Amino acid sequence: MTSTERAGTTDAESVVLSPADDAAAVSLAAALDRLESLSRFERDGIEEGAERAAAAARELARPELELRARLIGGDLLRRRGDVAAAGRIAQAVHRWASENGTRHLLARSSFVLAAVFQELGDVSLALEHAVRAVDLLEPDSPATMRIDHLARLADCLGLDGDEAAQERYDEVLRLAEQLGDVERQLLVLNNRAYCATMAGRFDLALTFSAQLQTLSSDRGIALHLGRLDTVARALMGLGRLQQAEAVLLPGLDPAAQEASLDGDAGADFLLTLAEVRRRLDKVDDAQTVLTECVRRCEEHGLTSIRVRARREQAELHAACGDFRAAFEEHKGYVDELQELQSAQRDARARAVHAMYETTEARKQSRRYRELSLRDPLTGLYNRRYVDEELPLLLRRAGAAETVVVALVDVDHFKRVNDTCSHEVGDRVLCGVAELLDRMPPPEGAGSFVARMGGEEFLVVLTGVGLAAAQAHLEAVRRAVAGHPWTELTSGLPVTVSIGATSTVVTEATPAALLGRADEHLYRAKADGRDRVVTD
Ligand code: GH3
Ligand code: MG
Ligand code: MG
Repeated sequence: MTSTERAGTTDAESVVLSPADDAAAVSLAAALDRLESLSRFERDGIEEGAERAAAAARELARPELELRARLIGGDLLRRRGDVAAAGRIAQAVHRWASENGTRHLLARSSFVLAAVFQELGDVSLALEHAVRAVDLLEPDSPATMRIDHLARLADCLGLDGDEAAQERYDEVLRLAEQLGDVERQLLVLNNRAYCATMAGRFDLALTFSAQLQTLSSDRGIALHLGRLDTVARALMGLGRLQQAEAVLLPGLDPAAQEASLDGDAGADFLLTLAEVRRRLDKVDDAQTVLTECVRRCEEHGLTSIRVRARREQAELHAACGDFRAAFEEHKGYVDELQELQSAQRDARARAVHAMYETTEARKQSRRYRELSLRDPLTGLYNRRYVDEELPLLLRRAGAAETVVVALVDVDHFKRVNDTCSHEVGDRVLCGVAELLDRMPPPEGAGSFVARMGGEEFLVVLTGVGLAAAQAHLEAVRRAVAGHPWTELTSGLPVTVSIGATSTVVTEATPAALLGRADEHLYRAKADGRDRVVTD
């Protein structure tokens, strides 16, 4: 939405504020809500959806929406195992959101970072981000987002062995139940049972496993392999091996296997089944599934499950009385475990390094930096850009070129918010921004437009005569006043007051120029608004 891209527009009066753009941004935001909500599950189409959304947001010059889409893509990378790439994206988005005070994005990036640090084994940083992701929820955040953020906090607390996790889980489950969101209930119950198993609290794990099973059979939703595995491990922890095997059997069904062919879930599942069967003395059956497990590990490069499968193979040899083979296999297991652990340490170190490495981060985030100079609501340059650009522009202009600085403030804007709604207020701001941005600068002049904050904008003109500048600002005022706002604002007029000064009479520093323009703006307000006051 820069003025150069729109240089083709010549007649300011004929500019049609694009309600289509506005509507597009609203529906894009809704699509992102849906994608964020879906991204909690394995679903096709999320990646494409996120990419399309990012492209559309870029087209509309809506950095916040673009970064929401990028974050969804980043989270997907994490699920697929590229934690380092996910971490880099989430970190960059988080930085932008902090600088621009965009709360939703800050909450979402904290949410993703919590998962990233969880996978990197840094539980305390994960917990810190999970707490922030919850703190940043707003009363009108989507219910599914509330559930997801609270659930991640519960997971982090649970893995940290904190009792407070239970209360959180109760709350989350209540919310998901109220919402009638069975998928989220299943997800949360699974994680809750898994955390309890990890903490060696098999009784507790079994309670939640039972709830998981009941809910899935009541609703006729088959538990996928990862969840069968969770239930079976709880049972196995309590020595209830026959039941554990019975729980796992439906997972051998070709349809269930088909559904998880490319994930680790299938291999993990088979490994649990092999262990259960070995402990039930069904050594042949155990060997059959263990062999299949190893084949899958090799086919899909699942290194860490492959190593655990060696330990199981050693146990199985021993159960068959072949202690020589058991010993050999166990030696292989110990060696490979060491290799794996050191490879994992390296990978973690590399991931953390990549997340914080500044030169790399700079290269990655050149675009994010450009975005950090943009106001997320209107896509105009923001105050930070003005602070950086105005001194440079004044230095470049020197004594040779006049620079005009104008503050444009919406009149009685509070009334729009109060009478209509904050959302309508936002749309009015976008509309004014667009009118300002589309206004072609006077012949031969340079210009930029920024949002200073709230309902105050800045127009800077360079290389322009005072008469032309005055005429330009008048045209801006007229364009706003003459725009058909009434449908949007239910009849309220929208006008602006403008205070302007130039380097002809005012010292050529940002502070002096903005101060003087502000004095004139004050005068314009006092004199009745909807007017331009200059030196
Ligand atoms: P005046 O004509 O004297 O400028 O009156 P005003 O009502 O425009 O000015 P005032 O400074 O009293 O109110 C500005 C309002 O703008 C208050 C604030 O809530 C609102 N505002 C600031 N930022 C935003 C925003 O991003 N969106 C919306 N909808 N409102 C905003
Ligand atoms: Mg105002
Ligand atoms: Mg104001």
